[in-house]
Amino acid sequence: MQLKEESTKMEQLIETLKDKNHELEQFAFITSHDLQEPLRTITTVVADLEQQNKGDMDEMTSIYLGFLSQSAVRMRALITGLLEYSRLGKDKLLEKVDCNIILQECLADLRTYIQENQAIITSSPLPELPAYGLELKLLFQNLISNAIKFRKKNISPQIRITALQDNNYWVFSVADNGIGIDARFQEKIFVIFHRLHSRTAYEGTGIGLAHCRKIVELHRGKIWVEPNPEGGSIFRFKLPVI
Ligand code: ADP
Repeated sequence: MQLKEESTKMEQLIETLKDKNHELEQFAFITSHDLQEPLRTITTVVADLEQQNKGDMDEMTSIYLGFLSQSAVRMRALITGLLEYSRLGKDKLLEKVDCNIILQECLADLRTYIQENQAIITSSPLPELPAYGLELKLLFQNLISNAIKFRKKNISPQIRITALQDNNYWVFSVADNGIGIDARFQEKIFVIFHRLHSRTAYEGTGIGLAHCRKIVELHRGKIWVEPNPEGGSIFRFKLPVI
């Protein structure tokens, strides 16, 4: 009897959590959507001011307008990231996805970035599994572009992508030879807007890994990071086979 009560309580708790989560997602969607409009106004006014006063603007005014427009660009990136975050997985259907094709598409999209950084990317054969195709591609894209971005100076990035079956899961790994991540921050980096570096050291918004975690959780999987024994990091995520 006590067991049944406990189980009912647990189910109620799960339902409450689901409702709260839905509410938060709605909130993120509405606020990020609505914030776009005033931001557009700021960007337009700054551009108009720059255009109208071209040539006869004093140095300080020109510097301030530059700050304003840089901040507006950054704010746009944050708002767009938040909006995309709240949209992830909305009204999507699981389909059979070939991860080899997804990876090839990602590498094609990142071709210039890969070439500029002389990154070497290798992979083992990857599985086919039921997934949300676009989201899975975004997951690979974020992990690979981070593996390139957080490279060690003067060493060309080497990235290895593999997948192994472990009972009812496929466990994927994206291993790099980059700067690595302090053990204290291995959980925190998956929290939205959480970054370990200044923007001058590495450009970014702190949204990529939050996207990754949400995508993996949409698939009822799990994502984590481990130190690479050879230096750098290994991001792993597991997705159910069925
Ligand atoms: P962003 O890349 O925009 O900073 P992310 O959410 O993708 O945001 O990553 C959060 C933080 O995690 C990064 O700022 C960085 O400090 C750390 N990080 C992510 N990927 C790697 C990696 N491959 N190697 C080292 N640090 C990483």
